[in-house]
This record gives sequence, structure tokens and C-alpha cells, in this order.
Amino acid sequence: MKKQIVVIGGGFAGLSAATTLAKEGHSVTLLEKNKTVGGRAGKLVVDGFTFDLGPSWYWMPEVFENYFKQFGVAVADAYKLVRLDPSYKVFFSPTESIEVPASLEAFYAVFEKYEPGSSVQLKKFLAEAEYKYNISMSDFVNKPSLSITEFFDIRIVTAALKMDLFKSISAYIKKHFKHPYLIQLLEFPVLFLGAKPNETPALYSMMNYADIVLGTWYPMGGMYKIVEAMEKVAIAQGVNIKTGIAVEKINVLNGKAQSVRANGMEYIADVVIGAADYHHVEQNLLEPAYRNYSEKYWKSRKMAPSCLMYYLGIDKKIKHLEHHNLFFDAPFDLHAEEIYDRPQWPSNPLFYATCGSILDPEVAPAGKENIVLLIPVAVDLQDSEEIREKYFDIMIERLEQLTGEKIRAHVIVKRSFCINDFKQAYNSFGGNAYGLANTLAQTAILKPSLRNKKVTNLFYTGQLTVPGPGVPPSIISGQVVAKEINKYLAK
Ligand SMILES: Cc1cc2nc3c(=O)[nH]c(=O)nc-3n(C[C@H](O)[C@H](O)[C@H](O)COP(=O)(O)OP(=O)(O)OC[C@H]3O[C@@H](n4cnc5c(N)ncnc54)[C@H](O)[C@@H]3O)c2cc1C
Repeated sequence: MKKQIVVIGGGFAGLSAATTLAKEGHSVTLLEKNKTVGGRAGKLVVDGFTFDLGPSWYWMPEVFENYFKQFGVAVADAYKLVRLDPSYKVFFSPTESIEVPASLEAFYAVFEKYEPGSSVQLKKFLAEAEYKYNISMSDFVNKPSLSITEFFDIRIVTAALKMDLFKSISAYIKKHFKHPYLIQLLEFPVLFLGAKPNETPALYSMMNYADIVLGTWYPMGGMYKIVEAMEKVAIAQGVNIKTGIAVEKINVLNGKAQSVRANGMEYIADVVIGAADYHHVEQNLLEPAYRNYSEKYWKSRKMAPSCLMYYLGIDKKIKHLEHHNLFFDAPFDLHAEEIYDRPQWPSNPLFYATCGSILDPEVAPAGKENIVLLIPVAVDLQDSEEIREKYFDIMIERLEQLTGEKIRAHVIVKRSFCINDFKQAYNSFGGNAYGLANTLAQTAILKPSLRNKKVTNLFYTGQLTVPGPGVPPSIISGQVVAKEINKYLAK
């Protein structure tokens, strides 16, 4: 029977859940506080430059392909996807950098150059990473993780034992390779997971498989093209998308959500999905008696970082940069310590730069360059204009040194985004960018639950619940919650 479903938040997870449920025949309304959907993957257009506000790395292309396929759409019809080659460039000093090639054979040659014989180890390392990736995608990522019993299957238990859950990825990489550059290359994807490499399970070497073998891709026009395509599919499936509507309360009676209040309106619901930041949904929209978790619980969570970003329009082309550029010319350990152990503004940060206009004429006027700079920082730091200016000076100076050319005098567009903006724009807990750190203690059933335990028809989705942060996992999270809701409605 057709049910009324209200989704709070129109990021990737909210769009995915809403569209999947609308296809099942339900009447779905999606309420998004901002003027556009997409959440953390917003778009900024200034003076002919188009910037992606959030994600820029397109990994795991099959997740997007499978998502759109359910609605009869091929990615190739939705946007033009190209594989980046090189996938990215890593600067170790003004004179030393490594370009990570798309071709596996060429990547083996890079390893041989720095550590003779290491390509043999790399093949073994990647074979293990492939195993972990395939098992995770087939047996783990789609589980709602509501109970440990979901994993009581001899095949899954046997596989889990081979997944290096209790080894750190740092120790695992160092067992295979000795050269510091190669170690940093392989540790880099862990940055996305929001924990120090020595605290991240070696299970996540599957990210190396995603990076090196499945490749880094780019939708021409920018990452926002994915959002536009998902919005189009949502509308085609009948989702009623209402933007500029911030939900203020979830009304609960006798353990059931009755409606959602926003802008003086009541949206009646058979099921409510909290697809905004989990902490915000619980702490701001629900009475304390109905929350799964206390503020104390949230304070005890290990958060992935926030970040400080600059969106720059440059009035000339810049040499020596690739689409994605990682600047590892500063000590990784110190920066990680200042994010996780002693939260403070970093003394000598690592950073990265995305330069979309190298490949894509759509994102900058002719002869100009579009650059986004990003420094990962601890959550909940004090954020001010003075601090942003200080780090802008540091970044530009480093960028000039590393590329060997003048940039500061050529900046014609400059915007920044940091902790205060994350809180204001997305109601993000502590101004987090990437949700919870992917430590073992915050994995699967140990993550905030997909279901409210006191309100039977209230569900959650998004990067703070299963399977975790990132664009592909958020899309999957929406699909997983939709399946749970169908089971609930069928009862
Ligand atoms: C700077 C940055 C870089 C990133 N880089 C990458 C990358 O390169 N590759 C990658 O795969 N992932 C990346 N990520 C992670 C990825 O973007 C996120 O994991 C994903 O977008 C989260 O989607 P979501 O739907 O869970 O949450 P969100 O995108 O936060 O969506 C939640 C939505 O809820 C809305 N909302 C909040 N409160 C309310 C309310 N009261 N009423 C109505 N609506 C509300 C918000 O406005 C928002 O639109 C990056 C993230 C950031 C921030």
C-alpha cells in the first residue's frame, strides 16, 4: 500500500533513499534546508568559475553505475565520465614528485624505481586488497548492521578472519614496503577515512584497490553533475523535492513519528528518514526521551576531520599541476596528531589542490584556472577570518614554491569554507566534513544505528551511519535504509 514517507535532508543519502522508495510506489517528500540538493557536494558559481564545494574524488564507479541502472539510466547518459591519467600527483618537495599513472604496469614501474623488487610485493598487496574490496562490497557494505547475527554465516566469518581487521594499515603497508614515498602513497587514501593510519584497520587497504586498480574518475562539468543527475532521476520517480525548508521537529506520539514540522507546516508521515547529520536529527529535532544516543555518547565519538578550503579563480594557466595534487612536503605524523590527538590548528599542514580546469573547459573561463585548496583540520576548532587568512598565506606560499610560479598576484576570485560554514550550511556536528572516523570501534554494528530504537518508524541514513563516509557509501546507505523500510512496512 502507498505510504507517506518524509525524508529530512537532500544529500546523496537522502536522494538515494527517497528515489529508491518512490520507485517502490511510495509517496515520498524530501525536505532540504538549503536552496539546492546535494548537501556537502554543493556548487559555487562566481564570475565564470564553477567550483565543487565538497567532494572531488570520484571512486568506485560501479556504485554509481548500479545506482542509476535501477532507474533505467546509464551513467554515460547522465554525465560524461573520464578516467584521470595521472590519477593524481604527489609533491614531496619542490624538486620531487610522483605522478600516479592510470596504467597498472606503469604504476609497478614507479614502485621499481623507488624500491627495486617492490612490484612483486605490490602485486601481492593489491591482490589482497582486491579480495577485501570484493568481500566488503558483496557481504558487508549492504548490511544494515542492526545485529551481530547478520554476520553469523560461516562464509562471512571465514572471510572476515582474512580481512586484517586487527592489524593497522600502517603496519601492514610497512611490512610490504620500505621507501617513505611509497609508504605515503599507499597511506594516502586513509586520509579519507578520518583516522591515523596506525589506528585504521588494514581492512581498508581495499581503498588502495579502489584507487589504483578501479581508478580515479571525473564527471565533466564537475562533481555536481552527479547531484543533478540524481535529482533528475528522483523527480522522474515521483519524489516531491522541497528545497529551502529546514525541518524543526519530528513529532512523536506513543513511540511513532506522526509528522515533521517545518516552516509552520506539518508533513504527515508513515515513515520518517533522518538523512541530515545524525547528531542534528537526534539532538535538535527529537525530544530527549526518543533519542538513541546522548550528547555524552557523541562527545566520546572519534570524528573524522573538518577542513579549511579555498576556492580560487586564477587569471592565468598554471604549469606543473595535475587535476588532483597532494602536497606531502610536510610531516604527515605531526599533522595527523594535531587533528586527532591534540586538536589544534596545524603547525605545518599537508594539503591538497584540485585543479578542475586542467581538463575541463566548463569550470573556468578560457585561459584561466580553477583551483580548490583543502587542508584537513580537527573538528570544532575556533574558526575566524584571521585564521583563514593566515592559512591562505601559508598555502599560497607553499603552492608558489612547489609549482615554481607566481600565483598570489593572479588570484581574481577567492572564497573560503571552514568549520563555521559546515555547521551553518549542513547542521554538521562539530563542523565535521567526513563524519565519523573509520576505526574498528566505530565500524558496522558499532556505528550509530540505522534505526531509532524507541520510535519504530524513524530511520537514519547518511555518512554518520552505515556503511560510512564518502559519496559511494552515502548512496549505498540510502539504498540500505530503503530496504529496511520496505521490510518494516511489509510487516
Ligand atoms: C570537503 C569535502 C570533501 C569531500 N571529498 C570527498 C571525495 O572527494 N570523494 C568522496 O567520495 N567523498 C568525499 N567527501 C564525503 C562526501 O561528500 C560525504 O560523505 C557525502 O556527501 C555525505 O552525504 P550525506 O547525504 O550523508 O550528507 P549531507 O551531504 O550532509 O546531506 C545532508 C543534507 O541534510 C540537510 N539538512 C541538515 N539539516 C536539515 C534540516 N533540519 N532540515 C532539512 N534539511 C537539513 C543538509 O543541508 C544537507 O543537504 C567529502 C566531503 C567534504 C565535506
